[in-house]
Amino acid sequence: MALTHNLGFPRIGAQRELKRALEAYWRGDIGDEQLKTTAAELRKRHWLLQREQGIDLIPAGDFALYDQMLNMTALLSAIPARFGADKGKTELDLYFAMARGTVDQPAMEMTKWFDTNYHYIVPEFDAHTCFRIGSEQLFREVAEVQALGIKPKAVLIGPLTYLYLGKEVTRQNEQEFSRLDLLPQLLPVYRDILVRLASLGVEWVQIDEPVLALDLDEDWLRGLDQAYAGLREPADGQAHGPSALARLPKILLATYFDGVNNHAERLKKLPVEGLHIDLCRAPGQLGIFLEGYPAGRVLSLGIIDGRNIWRADLAPTLAVLSHAQALLGERLWIAPSCSLLHCPVDLELESSLEPEIRNWLAFSVQKLKEVSILGQGLNQGEHSIRQQLDASTAARQARRESSRIHNPVVQDRLNRLTEQDGRRKSPFKVRQKLQRERLQLPLLPTTTIGSFPQTAEIRKARAAFRKGELGNLQYLEAMRDEIRVAIRKQEEIGLDVLVHGEAERNDMVEYFGEQLWGYVFTENGWVQSYGSRCVKPPILYGDIYRPEPMTADWIRYAQSQTGKPVKGMLTGPVTMLMWSFVRDDQPRSVTALQLALAIRDEVVDLEEAGIAIIQIDEPAFREGLPLKKRDWNAYLEWAVHAFRVASSGVRDDSQIHTHMCYSEFNDILPAIADMDADVITIETSRSRMELLDGFGHFKYPNEIGPGVYDIHSPRIPRSREMLELLEKACGVIDPDQLWVNPDCGLKTRGWGEVMTALKQMVEAAHLLRARL
Ligand code: GLN
Ligand code: ZN
Repeated sequence: MALTHNLGFPRIGAQRELKRALEAYWRGDIGDEQLKTTAAELRKRHWLLQREQGIDLIPAGDFALYDQMLNMTALLSAIPARFGADKGKTELDLYFAMARGTVDQPAMEMTKWFDTNYHYIVPEFDAHTCFRIGSEQLFREVAEVQALGIKPKAVLIGPLTYLYLGKEVTRQNEQEFSRLDLLPQLLPVYRDILVRLASLGVEWVQIDEPVLALDLDEDWLRGLDQAYAGLREPADGQAHGPSALARLPKILLATYFDGVNNHAERLKKLPVEGLHIDLCRAPGQLGIFLEGYPAGRVLSLGIIDGRNIWRADLAPTLAVLSHAQALLGERLWIAPSCSLLHCPVDLELESSLEPEIRNWLAFSVQKLKEVSILGQGLNQGEHSIRQQLDASTAARQARRESSRIHNPVVQDRLNRLTEQDGRRKSPFKVRQKLQRERLQLPLLPTTTIGSFPQTAEIRKARAAFRKGELGNLQYLEAMRDEIRVAIRKQEEIGLDVLVHGEAERNDMVEYFGEQLWGYVFTENGWVQSYGSRCVKPPILYGDIYRPEPMTADWIRYAQSQTGKPVKGMLTGPVTMLMWSFVRDDQPRSVTALQLALAIRDEVVDLEEAGIAIIQIDEPAFREGLPLKKRDWNAYLEWAVHAFRVASSGVRDDSQIHTHMCYSEFNDILPAIADMDADVITIETSRSRMELLDGFGHFKYPNEIGPGVYDIHSPRIPRSREMLELLEKACGVIDPDQLWVNPDCGLKTRGWGEVMTALKQMVEAAHLLRARL
């Protein structure tokens, strides 16, 4: 019998119950007990839901109040010393202190989980880090699920992944060390955990090692061998021999997010009872694993895409599985490709989606159903799922042929695109001269990144407009009021290049998606981003077409209110793509180009409306980089091309800006330069401009605005500090190329602090100008 299982279920709740409970707890509206009760109810509901879909082996330990990596930190008691000093804290206090910081300790760092939009809490190791079992939560959850009569598979993040994703902090006068050196100390604790799980009667433990999908060097690969051999070795002082081994659960080593075929031979030799591989991201790796797969071992195939929302094509999937079954027999398991954490919970909750489009989709619950249908097909024969196979084939075919997806105008335009369409008319130096003549800006021009504070009134007006409580005219007036306020304040501050403030935008992708053909939106399609934060990625299902201008009216209005140049604000094609669920029926490069064409038309409309400066934001450009370096060039090639197509429809004297809110560019600087934006604004203030060095060494040719203050912090910087940063920047980049701006948009801040901070920023620019 092929066994069905799941790697992880979304924990936030179909109605974001966990988010609500967490935020109420942090506000002090509910206590420990209530938070724990809500969490337990969600776990129970999710376990039962998974059982109802017919899944054989259901995960326990995939739940987390904040983050699964932070759960491991608590389980392994790897609490950074800086949080340990103050004893009297409860386990929960300590957990949230690490996640969110305290009055005197900043939170632990947070960063992106592989190529997803989920963020995890980065473990912090020092030379004194030691491990022991520090939390009972995992064992409690195992007991909870067992009490429901469900046989769980416990889930852990593997020792290699846990160390790899952490970082070393070395204090002054301490020797540098590598976190991999901690492995020998870590293993006995993992082993203790396994022994505890065995004593609870857990038969299988899924150990996630997603780092295997990255480029790992030899040291880490040796670490892998060492780790899994080590988990099998009796710890000192414990019984040796087969009885000790018999007390350990079986291990399913799970990999996902990309192929691990480069490590196939190594993985086949590891002393584990099973392997899980992702056949959605890397279908080609099946053959190499089937060949000589060790006897007696389970091979779990991730065949339902855990990273997207499309309904599967069951018939060809079943064919692949049947082939594997012929070789593996009982040892074949099937599952989603990865944890369903990255997928919304339940399509059943979507009541206003077009029925035609809805029929093409599957969220977590539906995906598990697909897994169990395939399991049934394998176990009871194809005829037993005939109906479901036919329905799936019909849905695929309907989608393939739907006129909603295919827009001949777009396809024709794509076919006619030439290399020239991705190139500005003249080289940067020529454009720069013309733009300078037109704009007449001072040296070190000052500007902002786009958004101004989204006040409660703005949000209220937008919500009322959506609900139909505010008419078109009233809404227009309300937003124009906001634009006028923003313009007046910017003039008062003395900025050189103004913006309209983005009051009409709820979200930089949704705002454009709603105006483009080819996008739909869900009501409840929430996906956890970090902690209690969720995003609702729009669904890009068809050819992208812009029926009419999207921003030109607002920007034109803003420009009519001032004599200074107003910069138009757009979201770039790569970011639109990265922050949406996108089509799986054509390469992402093609989708990106379609988005690029829509944006290109908007850029041209803005130019025709008399706007001299247009910013195309690409904050997600870097996160699109594939997990393996060998795939980078292919990505960069199409991503840069898409940006260039979006930005190259304008005259030489129109100035194109782009913005990226991070600054680790060193490994992709040639591509960034190749984007050929006239001005790029980036984050640098937190790193005290050090990250600008790369641009200096590279001799970045175009203009650049390194952020001089951190908008993420409520702290208001003094002009002296910003002046220092600017002086540093001048040491690396020719002042003639420099702009002065904050790190990112100001929408999360209040007007009071924004006014003070920007006035200080403008003062800093003036002080430096006077000296140059
Ligand atoms: N223009 C956007 C803003 O200012 C940019 C947001 C971003 O970089 N994520 O809000
Ligand atoms: Zn930004």
